[in-house]
Amino acid sequence: MPSYRVQPIEPDLAWRVRATLRSPGYDYPAYVDLATAEGPCRVCLNPFRSGADRAVWFVYDPARGRGPGPVPGPVQIHEEGCQAYRSITPSPVTGLDPALLRSGCGLLLQGFSACPQGGGTALESADGADALGAALTRLFAEPSIEYVHVRRADDGCFLYEVTC
Ligand SMILES: [Zn+2]
Repeated sequence: MPSYRVQPIEPDLAWRVRATLRSPGYDYPAYVDLATAEGPCRVCLNPFRSGADRAVWFVYDPARGRGPGPVPGPVQIHEEGCQAYRSITPSPVTGLDPALLRSGCGLLLQGFSACPQGGGTALESADGADALGAALTRLFAEPSIEYVHVRRADDGCFLYEVTC
């Protein structure tokens, strides 16, 4: 059974955004508002308590110059500090932590090679743990694929990165 490493947004970067209310690498403001969507928070990967939690919204490029081009989009993190997601407890059925399905919608996956000129794979959709596991297996079967970006299927917003 493959083991995957899940990388949320780095806590240090999240703290800089909370402190400056600026989007990293862009001249766009970040702003704080009530969290209205399920999220999840891109640091702890926990869903927001709608109407109760406050979130910092900002523009984030998960490729950070590594991908074939910039892929910025909006993300949300808890306004207050939270514990970064660090490890997975494999499910005996799928090998994937149920936390990785907390987006409340289907998922889109795209694999990238370590070489920016290598480009990215076509988007794959996945709905549910079995489909996510199968999509990761397919993407990482390609030797050139070094990392996979997982996004919400409904709005395309980045959730987390997976390496194998
Ligand atoms: Zn959080």
